[in-house]
Amino acid sequence: MPAAPPPATRSWWLEEALALPEFAGEPCPPLSGDTTADVVILGGGYTGMWTAWFLKEREPDVDVVLLEADICGGGPSGRNGGFCDGWWGHIGDIVKTYGEADALELLMTCGRSPAEIGAWCDAHGLDAWWRRGGDLAVATSPEAEGRWEGTIDVARSLGVEDEYRVLTPEEVRERCASPAFGAGMLIADAANVQPARLARGLRRVLLERGVRMFEGTPVSRFKASKPAIAETPGGSVRAGEAVIGLGAWATWWRAFKPVLTIRGSYMVVTAPAPERLEDMHWTGGEAVRDLRSSIHYGRTTPDGRIALGLGGLQPDLARGIDRRYDFHEPFARRVAEDVARLFPAFGDVPIEAAWGGPINVSGFTMPFFGSMGAGNVHYGLGYTGNGVAPSHLGGKILAALALHADDGFTRLAVVSREPKRFPPEPLRSPGMLVVNDAIRRKDDREDAGRWVDPFTGFVARIPRRLGFNLGPR
Ligand SMILES: Cc1cc2nc3c(=O)[nH]c(=O)nc-3n(C[C@H](O)[C@H](O)[C@H](O)COP(=O)(O)OP(=O)(O)OC[C@H]3O[C@@H](n4cnc5c(N)ncnc54)[C@H](O)[C@@H]3O)c2cc1C
Repeated sequence: MPAAPPPATRSWWLEEALALPEFAGEPCPPLSGDTTADVVILGGGYTGMWTAWFLKEREPDVDVVLLEADICGGGPSGRNGGFCDGWWGHIGDIVKTYGEADALELLMTCGRSPAEIGAWCDAHGLDAWWRRGGDLAVATSPEAEGRWEGTIDVARSLGVEDEYRVLTPEEVRERCASPAFGAGMLIADAANVQPARLARGLRRVLLERGVRMFEGTPVSRFKASKPAIAETPGGSVRAGEAVIGLGAWATWWRAFKPVLTIRGSYMVVTAPAPERLEDMHWTGGEAVRDLRSSIHYGRTTPDGRIALGLGGLQPDLARGIDRRYDFHEPFARRVAEDVARLFPAFGDVPIEAAWGGPINVSGFTMPFFGSMGAGNVHYGLGYTGNGVAPSHLGGKILAALALHADDGFTRLAVVSREPKRFPPEPLRSPGMLVVNDAIRRKDDREDAGRWVDPFTGFVARIPRRLGFNLGPR
């Protein structure tokens, strides 16, 4: 059994980035005193920062203040797996939720983001390890074989089947040899990045553009008035427009509680062993995931490490975000064991770091955007573990909303469509814990070649029966 990974306060990605002056940058001290702005942004993750970027692109003179409780990229934007892909992998759920025409528009619009992020990094001299390695979904049990068929059928009906390629087990092995992998599906138009370098690079460019950024500045009270008022321990910001990019922390907000819930996602990274990656043929930079509902996602680093994550975990009833979302030893140990199981060639390679983060989950698994208050407070939430590229599109949408520009972005279905509501408490948290456990048990049993009892299978499918795009079909 691998040794328990050391507890983390920061992700390995963020440690790596902060060790370099170009990504550490100068400190942005907390807000002290009262100020005004055209737009105040709550949250210094990708959503908040891409919004600031697109605001400045559209109107260079707009005065933007960004407030971040931690440091920019300290949340999931600096902790994620770095899979930088559009929504091609979700095509079935997207068509079901929005209809064919709107779905196609969403797929094409978000499909531009991975390449645009790469081009943006190049344009700003930012080495965020952007690599178009493709998204490789693999079967890890007989039940998972062919799970891509529904995806490809829907793609065919939209005329976009060329985005997908089915691979035989041998073809999968040529890209990533694992005794646990069967056949698979490749989406070539997908990249991966060093997530914290991207977040910290965004911060650097925004400071150069004159965005006023305050770190260590939690918004403690917010008034959705006109002007909107954000109060912090050291001062306040009054602004004509406000943008909420708080990710999972928006679940504290009464307005968002019914439509958002929290899950944990947990990652580990190994020591470098590039020669073993060569032996496994895993040298093409593929982002590899399995076809479970509680998904494993793995990728490599330029110095030959494997970073592996497991989603859909929750330390308890998941009513709030506490330290166990940064690090939770049972989950860290579980993912470390999965490295050895899925990639036995790395079985004796030390695990160097482990961390986690909260995922903000929406019922349709798609983010939703909109405006509230007097129409001057705009939000973008609910990425459900797929936010690296979609938050780039989110920034375009939120900048357009904040500038009251009635354009293609503000008319996308993720803006006009109401998010699905979760059942109310006290049913919701215990119900989700039970269902979530059943989903993971079903996935684990299938992977182990064990029988899934009908009760577990039934409970795991409850979310789909209730119209959510969550859990197995
Ligand atoms: C372990 C993990 C792996 C993931 N892997 C992937 C992946 O491979 N690919 C992918 O596409 N997505 C992945 N995701 C999801 C992705 O990271 C998110 O969807 C994305 O980062 C969301 O960005 P955001 O800016 O909306 O939110 P966040 O990055 O969560 O930013 C919100 C910010 O708000 C700040 N904040 C909170 N409260 C306050 C307050 N009161 N005042 C001011 N600021 C506050 C937080 O500190 C945080 O920095 C993963 C997530 C996790 C946790």
